[in-house]
Amino acid sequence: MELFLVDQMLMRLGRWLRLVGMDVANPEDDDDPELIIRARQENRILVTRDKRLAEDCRTAGVECILIRSTSILGQLDEMAEAGVNMELNPQRCTICNGPLRGAVREKVREAGDQSEQEGTWECQVCGKLYWMGSHWKRIEETLKQIRREKD
Ligand SMILES: [Zn+2]
Repeated sequence: MELFLVDQMLMRLGRWLRLVGMDVANPEDDDDPELIIRARQENRILVTRDKRLAEDCRTAGVECILIRSTSILGQLDEMAEAGVNMELNPQRCTICNGPLRGAVREKVREAGDQSEQEGTWECQVCGKLYWMGSHWKRIEETLKQIRREKD
């Protein structure tokens, strides 16, 4: 699995990357040197829209993806171009990046899930529950669109 670190302008993209199974750290603050140090220490690819930061990464020998688009779809396209597989693959909490594990069905039902779908997960860090509700279908549609554009 690829490890990423997104800058604060790309937090939304970061949440999408977690939906396709990537490990995406949240930036703690917007201090560029700190981002580069952290990316190096944790072996993460830095994802940024900041050209200067991308240049600093190159100088520092830290792998970096420079995103040009301002729209989430365009950004996902660029990540697909960079080799990220845009298949729904829930392994990481979209909020805190904690690992997900299969959740107990009753717990998910209590949280309001009325569907009979099997896929249910719980974040091992913050406890957020996930299930394949109707919003997942929209997410899958968007990812399908990105995959089509890539072909
Ligand atoms: Zn979480």
